[in-house]
Amino acid sequence: MNVATRQSLGPSLPVGMKTFTRTTARTVAALLASALIAGTPSLRAGDPPIRVLLLSGQNNHDWKTTTPKLKAILTDGGQFAVDVTERPEQCTAETLAQYDLVVSDWNAWGDAKVKEWPPAMREAFLQFVRSGKGYVSIHAGSSSFYDWPEYHQIGGLFWNLDVTSHGPPHEFTVEFTRDHPITRGLEPFKTKDELWIKPGIHPDATVLATGDRQPLAVTTALGQGRGFALLLGHAAEHMDTPGFQTLLRRGARWAATGK
Ligand SMILES: [Zn+2]
Repeated sequence: MNVATRQSLGPSLPVGMKTFTRTTARTVAALLASALIAGTPSLRAGDPPIRVLLLSGQNNHDWKTTTPKLKAILTDGGQFAVDVTERPEQCTAETLAQYDLVVSDWNAWGDAKVKEWPPAMREAFLQFVRSGKGYVSIHAGSSSFYDWPEYHQIGGLFWNLDVTSHGPPHEFTVEFTRDHPITRGLEPFKTKDELWIKPGIHPDATVLATGDRQPLAVTTALGQGRGFALLLGHAAEHMDTPGFQTLLRRGARWAATGK
């Protein structure tokens, strides 16, 4: 449901209901209920939302459009409560302690202004993951810190200097290579995206999905923590594919909870 529809259901509902058929009224009631759930994660019955810190503010991709899109996909449905930081290098152990999951739409590629995280943040990030929390990276979100082995162990996929390449965005089929809570029951799906050829892949990562035989989704581990890397998502428009959104939500849930 889009925002305009949600808003139009609000104030006009009591008056308009008088002229609705019973079926229409039931439909409106159901739509209103789902709108409340989608817009108010804390009202959802059952598990509390997974608390997500979304890293952004620097990326050689258009983070100003991809970050709001990622936040919307995760927030829709009430499974996740998402905060965004555009200065991850300023985070501390206390910041991370408020979250179950870190999602990266941030990188330090090329002539980026911020090339390193302070030692305290590096250590806080590793402790966060090792303690049993989750890390998810989207597309170029892990292409940073080439001198930091643990970051690549939990990141899993990255742009391998002098080896990785890509052509223009094109249509291809995403296929699944093994049974896993993230991929269980999913059918192969077509998407249009920028496909990386020969991405860097950590030797301990487990490939879950490919496109044109190139790995594009992996799981990782570090200590008690879990990671999920998804190379789809070059631009916001490529995140509209339902398959992308399912993989993002399932990968985020699994990284945070192991389920
Ligand atoms: Zn890209």
